[in-house]
Amino acid sequence: MNKVMLITGANRGIGAATARLAAQRGYHLLLNYRSRADEAAALAREITAHGSVAHTVQADITEEADVLRLFAELDEHHGRLDALINNAGMLETQMRLEQMDVARWQRVLATNVIGSFLCCREAIKRMSSQHGGDGGAIVNVSSMAARLGSPNEYIDYAAAKGAVDSLTIGLAREVAGEGIRVNAVRPGLIATDIHAAGGEPGRIERLKGSVPLQRGGEAREVAEAILWLASEQSSYCTGTFIDVSGGR
Ligand code: NAP
Repeated sequence: MNKVMLITGANRGIGAATARLAAQRGYHLLLNYRSRADEAAALAREITAHGSVAHTVQADITEEADVLRLFAELDEHHGRLDALINNAGMLETQMRLEQMDVARWQRVLATNVIGSFLCCREAIKRMSSQHGGDGGAIVNVSSMAARLGSPNEYIDYAAAKGAVDSLTIGLAREVAGEGIRVNAVRPGLIATDIHAAGGEPGRIERLKGSVPLQRGGEAREVAEAILWLASEQSSYCTGTFIDVSGGR
């Protein structure tokens, strides 16, 4: 039987790279996207053309009703869940903290924190032996920002990823006896659209000299760590973090 993986924010960037690698490793996939239906559909076509199974589901993970519908579609299409990849995340324009408004903080926390909490909750209801599940693995996509704080850029995003780190540690311990492992990756400077969303498409070029490996990373390099944490090969790891940051 093929294992089933749900990836949030799967249509591009690290989520899409994870989907491609997971398909190669034999997972059946539920690919969540928020707004870019064409991108998600093209990815699903690519994956199914290579002989795997992939369904796409639109859902804004900040909306509880959307997350409930996402997991209901999971139940309908796949009937089980082996791995949840909490990948969807966002940041906003670079600025100092005193320039930020409350609406921005609410958006940043809603996606990066509440969205991850909602998906964890629904995954546990399906995975936990306490609920009749077979266990599973949750991988949260945090950020090196949680450690570095992102001064002059987006302290709100960094703090939200700090919350994801605490979620990872606490939940790992809470559900360890129920067959569920919870781990996280902390990507560093990875080549995706997220830097343009912060207002600086060339951010990696500016900062790569501060990376011990002297370059930005590729989404595929993060996907490798995610897939390892989701797999049985990491069976003795829970509440742990892999920094995929070139040593930064
Ligand atoms: P990206 O290319 O901007 O992709 C972000 C993905 O998240 C998109 O698919 C986006 O959907 C989705 N998303 C955002 N808000 C959502 C919501 N409310 N509901 C559902 N989906 C939502 O960025 P990325 O670099 O691949 O980011 C993936 C993860 O890695 C994020 O958690 C990010 O914080 C983390 N990360 C990235 C880096 C980096 O350097 N790239 C470093 C550290 C951590 P749409 O396409 O519809 O917008």
